[in-house]
Amino acid sequence: MAEDATATQPLVALADVGKVFVTERMETQALADISLGIAPGEYLHVDGPSGCGKSTLLSIIGLMDDATSGSYALDGAKVAALSLTARARLRNRVLGFVFQAFNLISDITIVENVELPLRYRGVGKPERRERAMALLERVGIAPRAAHFPAQLSGGQQQRAAVARALVGEPALVLADEPTGNLDAESGRAVMELLAEYHAGGAAICLVSHDPSYAAMADRTARLRDGRLID
Ligand code: ADP
Ligand code: MG
Repeated sequence: MAEDATATQPLVALADVGKVFVTERMETQALADISLGIAPGEYLHVDGPSGCGKSTLLSIIGLMDDATSGSYALDGAKVAALSLTARARLRNRVLGFVFQAFNLISDITIVENVELPLRYRGVGKPERRERAMALLERVGIAPRAAHFPAQLSGGQQQRAAVARALVGEPALVLADEPTGNLDAESGRAVMELLAEYHAGGAAICLVSHDPSYAAMADRTARLRDGRLID
């Protein structure tokens, strides 16, 4: 880029990040020396074989887990210095999540699931219902709003999960193998929804094995045994 690099601060800035899991039987170095940035509006694809640390990396970026070494700043905030409340607020304001296993809450309806990020933000019921319904329209499952997750197909559940991820208009969407449990057509639909959201100016960090989706990304980061290669 020709423009001044200091003009926009990175959304995600990982410096020498490492992660060691310690269990009774062994220590696993899941990540080592990860220095990686994601700029506002950038679409980053993370690739690598099973067990190389992709989900661990996404968990750290998503404030669901902590690095054991190095430093991480999200949207300019040094994560290690934040209280639990500040972290929860930052996560809710900046991030949206899509998981392979959908992770919808089973005993509330689809529209209630989609409203959740807004509820955590303190948005009042009429507004959050309206915004959740607009998202369900956008992902094509508005007629299913009053159903429970188990009443939907996998593809429909993942559309609902995408609606939940996008309803708060996050600057960054984290998606961990979001098409892993879907048929090809549903998978394509989910990827198109993410690409559309990216086209609107948001950043995406996608973990996926599927090389056909890599083409949608601006850049691919490759992990092997917890390290970035080339
Ligand atoms: P990927 O998503 O690329 O398949 P993961 O990030 O899930 O890889 O795992 C990276 C490594 O860390 C693996 O060796 C895995 O067994 C280990 N690991 C992941 N989570 C834990 C955990 N909670 N406790 C112990 N080891 C873990
Ligand atoms: Mg994984």
